[in-house]
Amino acid sequence: MNGHENTQNSNEIIIKIENLVKRFGKLEVLKGVNLEVRKQEAIVIIGPSGGGKSTLLRCINKLEEYQGGKIYLDGVDIDSYDVNKLRTRIGMVFQQFNLFPHMNVLDNLILAPTKVKNMPREEAVEKAKQLLKRVGLSDKIEAYPEQLSGGQKQRVAIARALMMDPEIMLFDEPTSALDPELVGEVLDVMKDLAKSGMTMLVVTHEMGFARDVADRIIFISDGVVEEEGTPDEVLKNPKKQRTREFLKRIL
Ligand code: ADP
Ligand code: MG
Repeated sequence: MNGHENTQNSNEIIIKIENLVKRFGKLEVLKGVNLEVRKQEAIVIIGPSGGGKSTLLRCINKLEEYQGGKIYLDGVDIDSYDVNKLRTRIGMVFQQFNLFPHMNVLDNLILAPTKVKNMPREEAVEKAKQLLKRVGLSDKIEAYPEQLSGGQKQRVAIARALMMDPEIMLFDEPTSALDPELVGEVLDVMKDLAKSGMTMLVVTHEMGFARDVADRIIFISDGVVEEEGTPDEVLKNPKKQRTREFLKRIL
């Protein structure tokens, strides 16, 4: 069972990454990454630290430039996208939440849609209330980030990303900065999102989540996709020695 049992499967490719190469100076971090993401797929990306997982997500969202290869969104090279336009379609959630500390929860949520999408304030407030309800934080609408636990902050960050009605959500180790007892509440929100049919790329070390929610697991090591497959294939029957060694260390 995967995260999308309630939604129809789609074979339509929404992101296609071809031979992506990224260097920081002389350091080649992505060495020809190829990846296809289908609509409504939940993909979990695993792999050793420094292998290029964050860099890959950041390239997809145009937070990094790259030196070779192509990334297509719905068949269109993201080179030709305006950054703000692209980011209304692809939401991102980071390990460190990145909430605006001087704004309360409501203002964190309505800032981008009112500024970037020119959404009327009233409509944005209504949408924010709905999304806060969805992530279980209706009572925190006026709270400031410093008044929230890590798990609450991360759920606000997810709601904030959803304010733009993205078609794709990128998560970069969204629970790595949380106390262990707060991890579950964030994973539950992500699981619901996957079930609702959101296309998701999730970098995480939470193997329970990967097993239960991922349609596919991608193992990235040393700048390439070393192995990919269903959770059963990758977790139970890894083909590559590197995958086996990595799993042995984390499981
Ligand atoms: P992962 O997320 O898999 O741990 P990263 O994508 O963060 O890996 O990093 C891959 C490599 O790129 C690492 O060697 C890291 O030190 C390097 N790197 C990441 N960001 C930068 C940067 N802004 N400048 C220089 N090197 C970087
Ligand atoms: Mg990383």
